[in-house]
Amino acid sequence: MLASGSSHKLAEFRRVFEGSRVRLLSPVELGCQCDVDESGETFAANARLKAVAYARACRWWSLGDDSGLEIDALNGAPGIRSSRFAGPAATDDDRNTRVLEILTDVAQDDRTARYRCAVAVADPQGVIAFEMEATVEGVIGHAPSGDGGFGYDPLFIVGPGNTTMAELPGVAKDVISHRGQGGRAARAFLERVLLRAGA
Ligand code: IMP
Repeated sequence: MLASGSSHKLAEFRRVFEGSRVRLLSPVELGCQCDVDESGETFAANARLKAVAYARACRWWSLGDDSGLEIDALNGAPGIRSSRFAGPAATDDDRNTRVLEILTDVAQDDRTARYRCAVAVADPQGVIAFEMEATVEGVIGHAPSGDGGFGYDPLFIVGPGNTTMAELPGVAKDVISHRGQGGRAARAFLERVLLRAGA
């Protein structure tokens, strides 16, 4: 079970699990409800909190993800506060506008950033069985571009083609993205454990 209510994350992890005999289901599909206080000070701590809370509440193997954007000119902000940046009621567009405002006077060479994703897998008793962290490097653009992805993707430029994550087809994002890397590692781990055990 994905330890998240985010439809965007579910879509991305589902693509990564396509073709696997391990099926990744959402809490809604499993009739499971869980509220997690993301009180950790690191991505890894929050990923663990989510995986453990969902596993204990619902007794399924649970995959937790905590992710966000680290902008070097802002000393790594918004970081673990990426989803709350610009206030609790802000939209993705509001957050992107805020980032562009703050970086107005920051030169192209100093607009480096990365997405970071921590994944944690908990067994049905809530014991962490696997963890990893992955990043993808990029640069913050000067205006949003593209309709794909979610969150900060229209600002996040990757690769030599000056393409934002939001301009890439989903599967192309998965190949390089922080979540794609974390998801593939979690998939490999779960296939090793669940399929070998015949669970
Ligand atoms: P979380 O649910 O606390 O992990 O929040 C993650 C937040 O980080 C999201 O709401 C986005 O604002 C940002 N974020 C994480 N991964 C991505 C991504 O792949 N694209 C765009 N924004 C992302």
